[in-house]
Amino acid sequence: MEDYIVRGTAAGDQIRAFAVSSRGLVQAAHERHRTSPLATAALGRSLSAALMMGAMMKGKDDEMTLQFLGDGPLANMTVTADSRGHVKGFVGNSEVCLPAKSNGHLDVGSAVGQGTLRVIKDLGLREPYVGTVAIQTGEIGDDLTYYFAASEQIPSAVGLGVLVGTDENVLAAGGFIIQLMPFTEDAVIDQLEKNLSHISDVTEMLMEGSRPEDMLAQVLDGLEPKMIETLPAAFFCGCCREKVERTLISLPAGDLQEMIEEGKTVEVKCQFCGQVYHFTREDLGEIQAKAKRD
Ligand SMILES: [Zn+2]
Repeated sequence: MEDYIVRGTAAGDQIRAFAVSSRGLVQAAHERHRTSPLATAALGRSLSAALMMGAMMKGKDDEMTLQFLGDGPLANMTVTADSRGHVKGFVGNSEVCLPAKSNGHLDVGSAVGQGTLRVIKDLGLREPYVGTVAIQTGEIGDDLTYYFAASEQIPSAVGLGVLVGTDENVLAAGGFIIQLMPFTEDAVIDQLEKNLSHISDVTEMLMEGSRPEDMLAQVLDGLEPKMIETLPAAFFCGCCREKVERTLISLPAGDLQEMIEEGKTVEVKCQFCGQVYHFTREDLGEIQAKAKRD
């Protein structure tokens, strides 16, 4: 199944809904960062959620970032998505490993720990919008549900799932976000709650072959769901050698001189995608010359 996001509505315009299938891009993140199954699950849930939250934004250059700043062994996790189906992200400790929970699930909550969830939206305004809430369970979905209610005053249901196989490859990944508009009728809320209490886990739905629109059809059963738009989704970083060069140019002059005097090839790794850029002594000399000209 391809990775894509579906945007829809239900019960007239009382509900807005998003769903995503993201197995391919979560697998890409796993391969780039060599994540353990637990890190893959945490990162995969966040990547999936960020894609849907990115699709909520209107401007084509808008970007949003989720930062889980927890005290668990995963260390900090950062994920950035745009409004066009691109997402990238990384975790502080990609090798994190903890015993599974009693239900056999990966213990994402303990890996994340307690702390702060920060949501940063860059909508092209002078200042980005920043919403900060306390991490609730660290299971990602619960934390985002809480964020939407506490920070944006939007009652929401968030379902996220990543299933990792015994060979550490991603078998299934995806999720949904359902949001209630302020004028939603009680009968609609009742029906939605009933549906949510009956549906299977996201990973079960995906493993049964459900596409994003099928997940929404189940969650929004009896509420006349309408699919409005489909958007391809992918892991995409957008870093390049020129951008890394510009970072090196902006370093204090002494730092660059020190690297040159060491005479070694410098390796710069992009945090978001793991891409490594090499700069030889000669490259650094040219960068130093450019820095002096600026
Ligand atoms: Zn990159």
